[in-house]
Amino acid sequence: MRISTLLVLALAAVPLCSGAQAPAPPAAAMPLLTSIGDDVRADELRATISKLVGFGTRHTLSDTQSNKRGIGAARRWAKSRFEEIGRQCHGCLQIETPEQSATGERIPKPAAIVDVLAIQRGTGEPERVIVISGHIDSRVRDVMDAKSDAPGADDDGSGTAAVLEAARVLSKHKFDATLVYAVLSGEEQGLYGGKLLAQYARDHHWRVEAALNNDIVGNTLGTNGIKDATHVRVFSEGTRSTETPEEATRRRYNGGEVDSPSRNLARFISGLADTYLKAFSVRMVYRTDRYSRGGDQVPMLAAGYPAVRFTEAIENYTREHEDVRIENGVHYGDVLDAVDFAYLAQVVRLNAITMAALAMAPAPPAQVKIEGAVSMDTTVSWSAVPNAASYRVSWRDTTAPFWSNSKLVGDATSLLLKDVNIDDWFFGVSSVSKDGYESPVEFPGAAGAFNVAPAVANEK
Ligand SMILES: [Zn+2]
Repeated sequence: MRISTLLVLALAAVPLCSGAQAPAPPAAAMPLLTSIGDDVRADELRATISKLVGFGTRHTLSDTQSNKRGIGAARRWAKSRFEEIGRQCHGCLQIETPEQSATGERIPKPAAIVDVLAIQRGTGEPERVIVISGHIDSRVRDVMDAKSDAPGADDDGSGTAAVLEAARVLSKHKFDATLVYAVLSGEEQGLYGGKLLAQYARDHHWRVEAALNNDIVGNTLGTNGIKDATHVRVFSEGTRSTETPEEATRRRYNGGEVDSPSRNLARFISGLADTYLKAFSVRMVYRTDRYSRGGDQVPMLAAGYPAVRFTEAIENYTREHEDVRIENGVHYGDVLDAVDFAYLAQVVRLNAITMAALAMAPAPPAQVKIEGAVSMDTTVSWSAVPNAASYRVSWRDTTAPFWSNSKLVGDATSLLLKDVNIDDWFFGVSSVSKDGYESPVEFPGAAGAFNVAPAVANEK
């Protein structure tokens, strides 16, 4: 027996003492989620992005009247696609087009910001909402240039195609929770569509459990020539945007910097990739977005909703936000032929599987608490949630990225962990349905709570 094998066995025998921890082994696959992944098609994604590129430009300030060119035509086409998908599922999609007039640094004269939303209402707990979004607007180098061709195949034709394909695939199934497919505009001018979506969610009292924002998800060849077709980055904030000063003080003392609901959502997504996708995994990034850059998940976070950003593993900066041209033999511009559709399909599979997994699972437990200071044991408690048949208590080393230890309990609402010292571990709880669908892990207290109190959400 080799020394490395002995070491593995030794670590396996004493999991509570292991220092560096790998993610837990993949869970057993659910046939429904496998079939949802199998249903995602690269040719559908190609057809959508080809159509979007065909509108010439989709700049937020471009023509809204023409049926051939500009953002108006593009938005109307997206709406017609939702209508078509809705007909296939016998009217399962409610289509809404919230609109707001905006002006700002990048919008000198009032312009209409219009989002196109398709809502697949949940059959059991419709107030629980899972969102997927992408932005339909595009740009060239000059962010105010609304006339030049701005194909936006990857930024963010890829995200828009992800939203439409998720709708096509998921609308064939029924879910307890509500699924929202959101095509946003005004992103490049200042995240206007994301703000409008957050406002719409608040106005309609949605309990958003997860917002999956897809922005730049179809390229695999980096500016430096390095190719990566086997990872997607998932960005998540560490501490929540809506944390109060009192909550921050408590969190700074007891921990929780790496356990916002968005972060535990990212861990959940990473686990699904390991279970359901071959040769494709998540690179979690402990940041809200790429360095000093932004996206439509940001206004959702500001409203208190758990949200992550999906972005390709390696970006090509000669494609993004560029005028279409060839200069010194280098191709510039965000054109169709630079999109890797097989790769994009993998990203969309992960999104669709995540939405279905969340919507099939109960909500994460409410009011997770831990107690046990000056004791050898820790008591973890939580409030019951509808449709949970059991709960899983998880814990990990305070420096570990993934939950490593867990214990499944029945329908109890507390668990005494004997000889697990509260000082030495981070704890969390997930809810499990009778069929075995499991929610993301919720970290105790305000730092980790998924279920945003409406009062918090209404403050901003
Ligand atoms: Zn973008």
